[in-house]
Amino acid sequence: MRNEVTASALQILTERRRKAEREFEEKMRPLYDDPKFAPLNSAYTQIMIENARKEAYGHKQFEQTEENLKNDLENLKKEHGVQGLEPNYSCKKCHDRGYVDGQMCACLKAEISKLLLAESGFEKLEDFASSKATSGELAPAYELMQKWCKSDFKKDLILLAGPTGVGKTHLVRCMAKELIERGLVVKIATAYRMNQDFREFSKTQKEDLLDKYTSCEVLFIDDLGTEPTYKNVTLENFYLVLNERKMRKLPTVITTNLDLADIRERYDERISSRIADRDTSITLLLSGNDKRLKK
Ligand SMILES: [Zn+2]
Repeated sequence: MRNEVTASALQILTERRRKAEREFEEKMRPLYDDPKFAPLNSAYTQIMIENARKEAYGHKQFEQTEENLKNDLENLKKEHGVQGLEPNYSCKKCHDRGYVDGQMCACLKAEISKLLLAESGFEKLEDFASSKATSGELAPAYELMQKWCKSDFKKDLILLAGPTGVGKTHLVRCMAKELIERGLVVKIATAYRMNQDFREFSKTQKEDLLDKYTSCEVLFIDDLGTEPTYKNVTLENFYLVLNERKMRKLPTVITTNLDLADIRERYDERISSRIADRDTSITLLLSGNDKRLKK
């Protein structure tokens, strides 16, 4: 999935590069068509090579006409309104190729992030850096989650619990941005949507549906507990998603208004013990009043 995103981003850059080159060709055509251009250009090129050869052999006497020919050529270019020697690439660093010295260029990374955001389901992202001042007493939670976003996800299940208005959405948007900048494929779905999906789809399509929730590298399940409980659907499929992701070593982040006791009551033992497993999970209780972090 990540490779597909990179390929799409490279395709966008390729089109950008071709467009710049086409436009450049177009702009140069009147110059190339000018009968004065070809002889002037070849005379200049020849003398340039000759002078370079002389320099290499240590000669001090150069053909003086090089400067003149260069000026004539520049004037001819000006006459035809041609400036610059290369196409107007969007990225001056990599000439819209996406790589510089085998390293991914910033422009390719930005394009990948854009695609990852579009695929993620997040409408808006926030920045950890600019959240430091606003996070107040939640600062330790922000810090812990930022660290987790940069980790190797040994803790593969995060539960962010707390009442509405405590700032879970903002925190989750910061996390998504951090992960997308790492180049990870993230997806957010409400628990409600996921539950409806599994309810509506027949058994034969279930594999595709499961793939939707288990192929992204980080899945955010939003607002757990707001979905209705359907017999043989809700608990079963929720556990299936959690378990499948665990087997694939892909982390899951859950937000909820419920506390652990509520979760134990509403979901079955398998689910609540999976969430409460301190070896592989982090539970953050973000409380509304004092906004204290309880771990
Ligand atoms: Zn670039």
